Amino acid sequence: MVIDQKVKLTAIMRITGALRERLESLIFSRYPDKEWATYFLFGTHRTADGMVITFVDLIEPEGNDLDSTTAIVRFTEPYSLRAALEKHKRGLCLGVIHSHPQNYGVRPSSLDDDMDSYYRDYFPAFGRESAYFSLIFSRTKEGDIRFSGRGWNDGQEFQLTEIVVVSDKEIRREAASHKSSAELSQNEYRVRFNEIYGAEAAARLRNARVVIIGASGTGSPAAHVLARAGVENFGLIDPQQLAKSNLERLHGSYEAHFAKGETEAPLKVAVVRDLIKAINPRATVTCIAGNILQPLARDHVVGADLIICCTDTNHSRTAISELAYRYLVPAIDVGVVFESKNGSITGEIGRVTFYSPGGPCAHCLGSVDPWRATVELMSEEEKDRRRREAREAVLRGDEAGVYWRDVPELPTVGHFTSMAGALAASYAIGWLTGKFTPPNRYFEFNILAPNFDYVGFDALCRSGCYCETLIGHADQGAHAALISAPPHWPDARLV
Ligand SMILES: [Zn+2]
Ligand SMILES: [Zn+2]
Repeated sequence: MVIDQKVKLTAIMRITGALRERLESLIFSRYPDKEWATYFLFGTHRTADGMVITFVDLIEPEGNDLDSTTAIVRFTEPYSLRAALEKHKRGLCLGVIHSHPQNYGVRPSSLDDDMDSYYRDYFPAFGRESAYFSLIFSRTKEGDIRFSGRGWNDGQEFQLTEIVVVSDKEIRREAASHKSSAELSQNEYRVRFNEIYGAEAAARLRNARVVIIGASGTGSPAAHVLARAGVENFGLIDPQQLAKSNLERLHGSYEAHFAKGETEAPLKVAVVRDLIKAINPRATVTCIAGNILQPLARDHVVGADLIICCTDTNHSRTAISELAYRYLVPAIDVGVVFESKNGSITGEIGRVTFYSPGGPCAHCLGSVDPWRATVELMSEEEKDRRRREAREAVLRGDEAGVYWRDVPELPTVGHFTSMAGALAASYAIGWLTGKFTPPNRYFEFNILAPNFDYVGFDALCRSGCYCETLIGHADQGAHAALISAPPHWPDARLV
């Protein structure tokens, strides 16, 4: 294989907390003096500036798979072949992880160079997938983990810069190069936060990358709260332009946005970006005018620590729950509903759902209405055509519902969407810092009812569902994609 050395691209690896723990105990099992190793299966997603790889499984050494008479790692032929056949069978990519003895650092040795140049030609021959990655871990006497990693695909070399570890308790970002304590210095406005959660939690928030889908009544307060809490890296996804009716709920929107008339108003993502930047000018905010189903948005989201989904739409819910298991990107989905009776408001109901790899998807939870999802993706022409067909069916005496059923709009108001957005931001802070967890992975409540009518539960995946079988399969699980952007949507673009 010919490698283009000029282009060095970066990669991040995503892994579940359980596999990260298993990996560590395995490769340090002969520590501190002797190395150990394992093969691993992974999925990939190529982005504009690099690659995200998603850990699927270890192919652990058994019996005499590794030569245990030597301090260094020596793979046997049968082990390599077993791993290669497993790669072929499962349609995934294969890589190697080995440890270096304590205090040896994580620079590849010349033996490692030989191994990698052999494997990056050997493994692609088994199955379709050609990406190969090789990681080295070591642990200092103090217990600090160091790692390095590099990978090859289609003649390009990738440098592993970060590992994102995702569990129900925390989302942790581990960097290949360690920051000095000077870089971890505090900001004055975070003093209160540090007092309660500690400086490490504050540093974690600052390094976290949060994507908010929907920059309106719920998404804008979520961004607002997170910016004040110290999150400095945001992605905002929303296709809409600010409207005057948004003033009632959209944090950061002002009368002045309509100085040149409503048609000249900014995009919602730009309004929320300005709000974040006004609070913290150092913040990095990537704005995408588009939808989560579109490739540009997905390229951005697969590198994030956490998604907060504030659209309350069925297609977004489907998309984020699929991102959680296939790409190991966890998400908090939040929505609100109002109920009224005889002119009085009887219910202000909030619903919060946590999606993470290993947990149930939106379909297992029964939280997607397929008809609503279909209508959300329809063009106006298609809706008109179906309404016409429904009317004709009624004239014939046939069932109209197979052609069209109205989907009622569910109106909400700003005081409650603000609360829902702030609530989602709270749980994001707990998850990103590892400091607290929600009472349940799914819950709803009604702030107008005694005890808030709290209903919460932690469900399991339905046996055999993709959310159980395709964890970490990334693009290699694309054959099971549940939803994609319809062609009539305008292209997503960076703003
Ligand atoms: Zn080595
Ligand atoms: Zn499922």
